[in-house]
Amino acid sequence: MSERKCVSYKVLVGLEIHVQLATKTKMFTGVANASGAMKPGETPPEPNTAVDEQIMAFPGVLPVMNKRAVEYSIMTGLALGCEIARFSKWDRKSYYYPDLPKNYQISQYDLPLCNQGSFEIASEDGTPKTIRIRRAHLEEDAGKLLHEAPGGYAIDFSIVDLNRAGTPLLEIVTEPDLTTPKEVATFGQELQKLVQFLGVSEGQMQLGHMRFEPNINVHITDQNGEVFKTAITEIKNLNSFSVLERATAYEIRRQIHQWEQTGNLGRKSTYGWDDAKEETFLQREKEEAHDYRYFPDPDLMPVEVSDAWLMELKGQVGELPAARRKRYADSLGLNATDAASLAADKSAGDFFEGIVEKGIPAKRASVLMEALREMSNERALRIVDIGIAPDHLAEVGKLIESGKIAASKEVTKKVLDALLGTGKTVAAPNTVAELAQTLGLVQTTDTAAIDAAIDAVLATNPKPLEDYKSGKQSAMGALVGMVMKSARGMNAKLVQERLKEKLG
Ligand code: MN
Repeated sequence: MSERKCVSYKVLVGLEIHVQLATKTKMFTGVANASGAMKPGETPPEPNTAVDEQIMAFPGVLPVMNKRAVEYSIMTGLALGCEIARFSKWDRKSYYYPDLPKNYQISQYDLPLCNQGSFEIASEDGTPKTIRIRRAHLEEDAGKLLHEAPGGYAIDFSIVDLNRAGTPLLEIVTEPDLTTPKEVATFGQELQKLVQFLGVSEGQMQLGHMRFEPNINVHITDQNGEVFKTAITEIKNLNSFSVLERATAYEIRRQIHQWEQTGNLGRKSTYGWDDAKEETFLQREKEEAHDYRYFPDPDLMPVEVSDAWLMELKGQVGELPAARRKRYADSLGLNATDAASLAADKSAGDFFEGIVEKGIPAKRASVLMEALREMSNERALRIVDIGIAPDHLAEVGKLIESGKIAASKEVTKKVLDALLGTGKTVAAPNTVAELAQTLGLVQTTDTAAIDAAIDAVLATNPKPLEDYKSGKQSAMGALVGMVMKSARGMNAKLVQERLKEKLG
């Protein structure tokens, strides 16, 4: 029996996250950003085609900074509440490995672009929790070493694909404020939503756009009230939220178990995750910063951020999802679910606001967005790529508000489908109304016509009328149905109103 017993413990997890930025070209050269700019469903280019002399480190080739990558990093820093450094520089991080032919990675060591921010997430009990951001710096990604040939052919050597090398990579580092595996995964998911909202990264986990490295240690209290702190271990390169959560949970258990069994608090080290075995495995004892021989890159100018540039980027960040969600709920009166779903997707939120600006009530606009979302899912297209403008949906909204067409998702989709069929991608006034007319979707709002239809039904169907008069409320529904059937395109709400009035 072990003499050491963990009575209670506190978990401390800090995250390092590498986010590939979705710029058109790579970090220090004009060749296509094949990895970071890739969208789901796209075919990746042939290996070693998104390369040039700079990526392959030909002698004498110099790097040129990608301004947009710097801007994307600053925008992310601003959204994370960071202080943006007015002066930052580039450093060489030396390492000898075939995935980066220069034998060093260009990174930022002691003067990162973004410092000391904070990001709010929901903790497990739903209350908001602030996670401090230590820093975020910009660097370049490495290539990929492959140990089997494309197509799954076994080889007894390794090959390299440099398409990923030189991709702009933003490394975000949090303070160790995360305290449960679930919280770690939640942070990852919220960060993914943020970078997608900002449009700085595609944020596709399966494409390796975001890789997570939790740094984990545990403060263990034993049966005598004494506290033992395990050494920090880092799990490398996790690229799914589920794995991130499971690997963190495993590593917490492993550290506690190791201490209980042996009294060993471990050493600062790096672990990998074996998904088949569902366990972490030791990779190496951690290198210290001096092992990398950091020194300033003499080929690159420092980055200086002016007031004007910073103001411009603040404008590009605009209103963040949390603020949007609150405004949609508080000022526009949407329920929490609708507000959250519209606020999480920038283009959907912008589209929705475009409809509201045309005078359509927010709740109606939110329902119209549901029809549009279904259409985009059916076509596997983004909302903004379907070919329908906010003006079109506002026209549909006006027809519904005036009672001309039924307030149903099916009718909305029929009109929009027909609109796409016309190939008119620019909203022309009356186009939508004309289409609704042609499709026979326009309802009669002419009260004289409705009254005539009601009179005809009442004259030939005395039974439901008597039932209603003797107090049978359900007869009203039957009568409405009969009137609706007697002539096409009646507005159900109007029919009911007129019937009630007639029957007193
Ligand atoms: Mn890094």
